[in-house]
Amino acid sequence: MPIKDKKPQQRRIANWVFLAISAVLVLSTFLPPAFGQETDKVPYSTFISQVKDQQVTSATVGEKNIRYQLEAGGAVYETAPVFDLNLPTLLQDNDVEFSATPASGNAWFGSLLSWVIPPLIFVGVWRLFLARGQGGGQGGVFSIGKSRAKVYVEDEDTKTTFTDVAGVDEAKTELVEIVDFLQNSTRFTDLGARIPKGVLLVGPPGTGKTLLAKAVAGEAGVPFFSISGSEFIEMFVGVGSSRVRDLFDQAKKQAPCIIFIDELDAIGKSRSSGGFYGGNDEREQTLNQLLAEMDGFNASESTIIVLAATNRPETLDPALLRPGRFDRQVLVDRPDLKGREAILNIHATEVKLSDGVDLKAIATRTPGFAGADLANLVNEAALLAARNHRESVEQQDFAEAIERVVAGLEKRSRVLNDKEKEIVAYHEVGHALVGSAMPGTDQVEKISIVPRGMAALGYTLQLPTEDRFLRDQAELNGQIATMLGGRSAEEVVFGSITTGAANDLQRATDVAEQMVTSYGMSEVLGPLAYDRSKQNNFLDNGSAPNARRIVSDETAKAIDEEVKSIVESAHQRALTILRDNRDLLEEISQLLLEEEVIEGQRLRDMLSKVEFSEPDQSSGSADHLNRQVIEV
Ligand code: ADP
Ligand code: MG
Ligand code: ZN
Repeated sequence: MPIKDKKPQQRRIANWVFLAISAVLVLSTFLPPAFGQETDKVPYSTFISQVKDQQVTSATVGEKNIRYQLEAGGAVYETAPVFDLNLPTLLQDNDVEFSATPASGNAWFGSLLSWVIPPLIFVGVWRLFLARGQGGGQGGVFSIGKSRAKVYVEDEDTKTTFTDVAGVDEAKTELVEIVDFLQNSTRFTDLGARIPKGVLLVGPPGTGKTLLAKAVAGEAGVPFFSISGSEFIEMFVGVGSSRVRDLFDQAKKQAPCIIFIDELDAIGKSRSSGGFYGGNDEREQTLNQLLAEMDGFNASESTIIVLAATNRPETLDPALLRPGRFDRQVLVDRPDLKGREAILNIHATEVKLSDGVDLKAIATRTPGFAGADLANLVNEAALLAARNHRESVEQQDFAEAIERVVAGLEKRSRVLNDKEKEIVAYHEVGHALVGSAMPGTDQVEKISIVPRGMAALGYTLQLPTEDRFLRDQAELNGQIATMLGGRSAEEVVFGSITTGAANDLQRATDVAEQMVTSYGMSEVLGPLAYDRSKQNNFLDNGSAPNARRIVSDETAKAIDEEVKSIVESAHQRALTILRDNRDLLEEISQLLLEEEVIEGQRLRDMLSKVEFSEPDQSSGSADHLNRQVIEV
């Protein structure tokens, strides 16, 4: 429920007064000047014949009307004049006492109006326009610069809590901590801990970022200012930045509190990236103001936590992500199987569900669905049940609804069909198997075929077992083989290759090229630095990837050959490992298809069964003393 402060109310009254005055002025120009006096309208011919019959005693001749009386104090008649130069003579001849309409202030009043009204109307329209620009919101038409943030105090009954959000457990854990900060800030500050100022929720659309923010508001029990990034931007320059200022002013008065800026990318776009419309300046000013405000308050004095959400973190200005600003980033990702079931459970309580419905089966069939898609699915199913005049929503309604929702989703995002899912599963297990067989590569922690973030269809997560700053040649070769493991698995299992490995190949090639051109790991080329972008990092770090020192054609050719041979031998190693462990590849892939995510000890146990004996490695571990180490 939005709280209204008093000022907008005063403004609203002022607005009404303004409107009323304008209305009166406008009307008065159109109404006849004399109110109240009853007149009888008669035709001009009647008037003339009455004059000629000498019945008329007095008349007032105006431009637009003539009023006359047949006897003093009697009824007033009115007629519209015909342009008639002889009228005065006629009146005189017939003893009518006549005069022109007394100026009665009407003339100057009229001309005054003609000067005053148009600008007034103009101003009025302009203000209405502004008010509409602000969504007719509660700021009222006079408050151009006032922030449009809504303050929420959650209703006990309807408030959103963390129980309304599922499938994003890591994000939830982080935010529970934020709530803790707000409620017990002294516990943290007494210890000297700095409470984070800015927390950025990052994730694909519909994964529950806005919902999580509302849950924080519901749980924290502090004022919650909510505004969307796009609302800062108006067509008038300077409005956005003064809104930001007002927002923080208000927030400081109400601290501890939360400011939530949804869709931060609307203002936070990187300042270097040129927008395609000219209003860039305005956005920049708004962004600068936001940066200034975030630097300007001291979190230990007034506990304000700025929460923001975006699904396009890569477009954000790096300045936003610096320490003291949005230095905490919370990933809100698409849910896995268990998460989807939990989300379905939440939304299923809103509809009448038949006993036979198996939500787990539905969750299994909806990989890649975000929370919003699942909420939509439940609603679709309920609509279908209603259309079929059913008492409650049944499994078959869900089956049909899935088809509908998937059809819609396929257009805008990646929902894998069964075949694709299978390929992705083998691909990821390929990475994992090769990765665990390679010496010195990082521990494989998790494999998943739940689409993650914006790019990957599936992913394999490797975590270093210790902090590593230097890696040797054997490890780099192992890394390259691991990167090629996905593509190699596709080759081994399906005999064909998909487009999904493009990114892997790019990374593998980059590492191989660095080995040759930056780390001097090639025997052919020797310990020379051929990599130009590394040489003057400071001056042109925007240089094209792999920009090389100017080298002779032969050297360039030699580099290319060395890179190719490194990548190709890694590829052969990966293929060998996968062929030797074909059964294990099958087993883990099938399990992954079933469960979508395998992680932790269970995964490590399975991967430890990998059998691999390096036939005859040129860079084997025999020459320990010659190991080349590099900075990574
Ligand atoms: P985002 O802001 O990430 O684009 P929203 O928070 O607006 O997504 O999600 C839209 C709706 O989808 C929510 O109101 C909720 O009904 C549903 N939803 C999304 N994610 C979840 C989730 N993790 N758990 C439960 N419901 C969710
Ligand atoms: Mg949102
Ligand atoms: Zn891959």
